[in-house]
Amino acid sequence: MRLFDRLLKTIRGPSRLSFAISLAKSPLTMFKIKSLPSITGRKIPALRIFYFLTLALKKSPGLFQFRLDPTIGGFSELTFLLLSLDLRLDKMRKKGFRVVGKWPANPTDIYFAAGCIALDPFLFAYCRMIATGENMLATRGRGELAVDACPAQAAGYTAVTQGIITLDTFYPFIGPWCYDSQYCFEAMRYLVEGHFGEQPIDFSGKNSEEAFSYMLTEVKKCVETLGRLSGRQVTAEHLKAEFALENKLRGYLRELMDLMQRKTVPLGSLEFIMAIFIASDWLADPPAMEKTLSILVDSARKRVSRGVQGKGVSENPIRLLITGIAWGDLGLYNIIDDLGAVIVGSECVQNLFYEDISLAGDPFEVLARRFLEVPYTLTAEARGRWTVENIRKMKYIDGVLFNCNFGCNYQTTEARIVTDIIKKETGLPCLVTNTDLPNEGRGQMRTRLEAFIEMIRSKAKCNQGTVAKCK
Ligand code: SF4
Repeated sequence: MRLFDRLLKTIRGPSRLSFAISLAKSPLTMFKIKSLPSITGRKIPALRIFYFLTLALKKSPGLFQFRLDPTIGGFSELTFLLLSLDLRLDKMRKKGFRVVGKWPANPTDIYFAAGCIALDPFLFAYCRMIATGENMLATRGRGELAVDACPAQAAGYTAVTQGIITLDTFYPFIGPWCYDSQYCFEAMRYLVEGHFGEQPIDFSGKNSEEAFSYMLTEVKKCVETLGRLSGRQVTAEHLKAEFALENKLRGYLRELMDLMQRKTVPLGSLEFIMAIFIASDWLADPPAMEKTLSILVDSARKRVSRGVQGKGVSENPIRLLITGIAWGDLGLYNIIDDLGAVIVGSECVQNLFYEDISLAGDPFEVLARRFLEVPYTLTAEARGRWTVENIRKMKYIDGVLFNCNFGCNYQTTEARIVTDIIKKETGLPCLVTNTDLPNEGRGQMRTRLEAFIEMIRSKAKCNQGTVAKCK
């Protein structure tokens, strides 16, 4: 009871009141929290998760501006893993784990298999800005890097250089697609000793044997370096065991996306995208995330079978796929639901979950091929075709959003090519958007999204259909 009292003390103001009411309506929510396994080998008890959340929510005023659904199974555990990331990383480091900075679209398997903790500093920093409700990390980073640095890079840079997170090293795999990563990681070198893996691009789109053998050398070099850091003699078995674990995680995300495309949409856009975001680094703990996603997906399955729509999702919503780079301003996901649409698919930087990593064959070679085929790093035309193939496998998509981050020349250059291919091949309407820091320019975006959604709806009416079914 003391814990519950403590939780209520953290809740003040109108939005906090609505959070209290939603908890009161479902008083068992807190007892539904499950204990989680952890990469450290020690269990994270349910009571600790609950206790942490009561305190962390108090320090996260930014979260109270969103409509979230704490009643979906696994959501409390997911929020805990998000908000406790810095504390958990500190503990892991004290236990001897080494934390390695990576770029979002680098497969995490290589880092965890080598006995290290993979961390996407950009996702971490964005989560921090969203939770605190202020953008100081990005604005300060821009002051030091460049005024037009991408907001994710700028915020990640500040989080590392200000000691909010500690990296033992960084080892991103970089190609010409991201304009800021090289510069951003390089600028941290005075603080953190780092390495770069080179990911060749074969512009013929065929991934020649030269590209493959180059990539294989890079993969082996990375495994050896990380193994030295963690003290692990990394074997093929370590790699395969990690592939198997992370394949489960990827499978859950694919199932979640599939469930979002049923007649009953089980999650609001925001809860769905939060689950997808974590594919960047599994919030530093794949075993904990595996259990969390299993609970979340199970809860979504039950909602679909019982016909329970996600909180805020309207009847017969317009179903959208988001591609490019997902909006970092989480408020936009609530807005899209309010406008009668819902995001049911995501093909962004975290799209590594679309395919499993094969357990057959030499795992180093498998990993090298995987790196070469990361969809985010394909040439614009290949990426467009890849997206079309995936859209064709989806059940319902009525339109496509392609978002570009301010300062990201890569996305801006790709946007038109990719959306033209999607329009030509599927006939789906596409909207290219540009976003920057959380909480900025929402009014203008709302107007554009409203017009886009209305256009799709009226087109559906003209065709006397419900909403378009992608062919
Ligand atoms: S949005 Fe663009 S600049 Fe920013 S991390 Fe992604 S690819 Fe790099």
